Amino acid sequence: AGMSSEYLEVRDLRVTFDGFTAVDGVNLTLLQGDLRFLIGPNGAGKTTLVDAITGLVPATGSVAKSGVELVGKKVHQIARLGVGRTFQTASVFEELSVLQNLDIAAGAGRGPLTMLRRRRTVEPRIEEALETIGLTGLRDTPAGILAHGQKQWLEIGMLLVQNADVLLLDEPVAGMSHEEREETGNLLRRIGGGRTVVVVEHDMDFMRAFATSVTVLAAGRVLSEGTVEQVQADPRVQEVYLGT
Ligand code: ADP
Repeated sequence: AGMSSEYLEVRDLRVTFDGFTAVDGVNLTLLQGDLRFLIGPNGAGKTTLVDAITGLVPATGSVAKSGVELVGKKVHQIARLGVGRTFQTASVFEELSVLQNLDIAAGAGRGPLTMLRRRRTVEPRIEEALETIGLTGLRDTPAGILAHGQKQWLEIGMLLVQNADVLLLDEPVAGMSHEEREETGNLLRRIGGGRTVVVVEHDMDFMRAFATSVTVLAAGRVLSEGTVEQVQADPRVQEVYLGT
């Protein structure tokens, strides 16, 4: 049968807070190369779903990455299995340079590296990530003085050097200029290739321009799924967005 191309298989995932079910039996199949947008009204459970997949909140059900079960594992174990996420506010070390931020991310959770191993394995990965996120020329710049968009790209770079192949991004273009949005979309396409990218987003223009597929959540459940066109034409989606 060969290798399955299903990267992340979410089955009947549930998250409950004090009796309130925020994620209510979600099923999702994400494939390699997907640039999947996760949309839905406020409170639909988008962030909680991402939190559950990445181990930040306890869940029941199953999240399998290429057959390996993630539910029940700890945040750092899930990260080491190649599932990485960003938060709404970029968390970079402001006082450290771009390069130092990537260096720390590359070594995270792996203990001290020998000089040789660093030069052979880490440095090429960092160079590649710098190239991908377009910050090669700013490697020695303190992260704190980067533009808003550049900080977000650095955070994505930090996932890339950790070898994340499933990236979950929470509102990556919030607060970005039009140009930064375009560049972010192109960046997501570049990293898409052999990876899987999930984007929680409110910006519908950004979604239309870059999504390869869309999942609409409402009240903790998958309301609709498909291409941008299919989802936009779905009367149930129009209903939750127009409130009619
Ligand atoms: P979205 O990201 O789609 O806006 P959230 O995942 O943030 O939605 O929230 C889904 C629901 O779960 C909301 O009703 C929210 O109030 C609730 N919720 C989220 N986190 C918690 C928590 N830690 N404790 C209690 N309720 C929560």
